[in-house]
Amino acid sequence: MAEEQRVVSGKPRKSDRENIALRPSRLAEMLGQDRVRENLSILIEAAAARGEPIDHVLFYGPPGLGKTSLAYVIANEVGSNIRITAGPAIERAGDLAAILTHLKKGDILFIDEVHRLGKAVEEILYPAMEDFVLDIIIGKGPAAKTLRLNLPRFTVIGATTRLALLAAPLRDRFGARFRLDFYEEAAMERIILRAAAMLGAEISAEGASEIARRARGTPRVGLRLLRRVRDYAEARADGLITLPVAEDALALMEIDALGLDEIDRRILSIIIEKFSGGPVGLETIAAAISEDSATIMDVYEPYLIQLGFIDRTPRGRACTKHAYKHLNIAYPEAPAGADEDQRRLI
Ligand code: ADP
Repeated sequence: MAEEQRVVSGKPRKSDRENIALRPSRLAEMLGQDRVRENLSILIEAAAARGEPIDHVLFYGPPGLGKTSLAYVIANEVGSNIRITAGPAIERAGDLAAILTHLKKGDILFIDEVHRLGKAVEEILYPAMEDFVLDIIIGKGPAAKTLRLNLPRFTVIGATTRLALLAAPLRDRFGARFRLDFYEEAAMERIILRAAAMLGAEISAEGASEIARRARGTPRVGLRLLRRVRDYAEARADGLITLPVAEDALALMEIDALGLDEIDRRILSIIIEKFSGGPVGLETIAAAISEDSATIMDVYEPYLIQLGFIDRTPRGRACTKHAYKHLNIAYPEAPAGADEDQRRLI
């Protein structure tokens, strides 16, 4: 199954467009991520008190947790225009220069996948973020001249799923950095209930908590499951999303009690059955399930690690006994005193 077709993928899909209407527009409507919200509201209030645009902000964490939503929320809260772009979309330094010269004071420039900016583009971005200037080189060779343009004070909001791939100088230019974590079940439940109300879907409290439990702590996944379960409730039941209706619909999608789908389970069973529980290299796992290693790192692995099913060791990925238990496979017993590695060799 391609990543694009996975119901539980945190990555955006075309069918998620309906979600845009569900996007929170104010900080107070943003449920969960309490620490991030509190810090953001301080940042916004302090900047407002000084009458200045807010500092550059970086959000990082797995896909679907609300990085883009937060950028929109900030723009709304400070009453600024927001310009949306993404690292791979800015191919040449000139593309970024064109964007920067069109910004007005206080505008927000949101750069998704900011770790994918090219070197030449980053070189333009550094002075723009730090000193609000744009250096343009005119001509070539010895006759080349540098023209320095002043830019209005603006704010860059960057988002990345891979903090480690961000060049250190770029990372350092973001004055405020926030890690988004998977959502707690209670917050997820409130997100599902709010979305159901906005979609006009009837749902019981038990139905909502069942969907929340299987949403992998990811709002994008939760909203997608809600829409699929709502379709099922309309087609196969009387429209009301009750606990049994949610359970039947999710079982039909092969999403288990923890929100794992067939690919997650395949990753675990390959590590366990083909590689004796690991450790095994990421590339080897990727080849075994015909998926690219970046997708495994960004999309599948974070949740499996969060569940404590996979350990990331220097020699590769290894399954823990919780993963064996979840798949109903006996965990190899080892003599007392054997360490994890010896245990795996048994
Ligand atoms: P990211 O940029 O991290 O991939 P998005 O901001 O695009 O994630 O969020 C994915 C979807 O989840 C959006 O459609 C948004 O409506 C919803 N969403 C994210 N966070 C929240 C939240 N805290 N409350 C309600 N909905 C949320």
